[in-house]
Amino acid sequence: NRTLLIAGNWKMNNDVQAAATLADELVAALDGVDNGVEVLVCPPTIDLTTVAAKLDGSAIKLGAQNVYWEAAGAYTGESSCDMLKSAGCTYCIIGHSERRDYFHETDEDQNKKAKALVAAGLVPVFCCGEPLEVREAGTYVEHVVAQVKAGLEGLEIADPAQLVVAYEPIWAIGTGMTATADDAQEVCAAVREALADLFGAELASGIRVLYGGSAKPGNIAELTAKPDVDGALVGGASLKAADFSQMVVKS
Ligand code: 13P
Repeated sequence: NRTLLIAGNWKMNNDVQAAATLADELVAALDGVDNGVEVLVCPPTIDLTTVAAKLDGSAIKLGAQNVYWEAAGAYTGESSCDMLKSAGCTYCIIGHSERRDYFHETDEDQNKKAKALVAAGLVPVFCCGEPLEVREAGTYVEHVVAQVKAGLEGLEIADPAQLVVAYEPIWAIGTGMTATADDAQEVCAAVREALADLFGAELASGIRVLYGGSAKPGNIAELTAKPDVDGALVGGASLKAADFSQMVVKS
């Protein structure tokens, strides 16, 4: 009963002109596709208003890749929840491993971001996932559950649609090494159990848990066939309208 979500994370790709072109292509490619899958694109901040204008009138949703939890003020380079909303966003990715690794963001930062987003009526797409060493050590479930609990502790939601979680094993991001559908299922199910501890079983059963990491047209059907995998957060394959729309169709 959970609506599948196929979300594109464009990362730091596409200037304003290229973003406009890709948005036009996506709208065209998905025109008439109505298989019940929700579609989301998350362009760079600089592209949001342009892409919002292009998506207007389509069913494709808009999300940001980052947010700052303060409402306004002297925070050079940052964007607030209300600014993202005013640009047309309804979602925002937080906690991506690239932000944790390259920009030193902590679990506490994610917790503040999640709370600010939900308070503003935006849906966090909360990312979690283990590095290769942790996968090899066999402690990946504990690692991911700890990230989920630290990042989302104390968050208050009344409806499962207010939160999305994306499990992205770092060793599978941009490497072509997709986790197997069984690997994805194992951790997505553990994430749902952690969500049940945080929010209760009923809300947890309605929260979408996505898989991310080299998801592509050739593996999306197998991934979304798993009971606890409710879609994908897609990097590389979201940059080509043909690939991304195929993923929506095949889900
Ligand atoms: P790739 O699909 O390029 O592996 O990236 C996954 C990702 O990090 C999405 O947020």
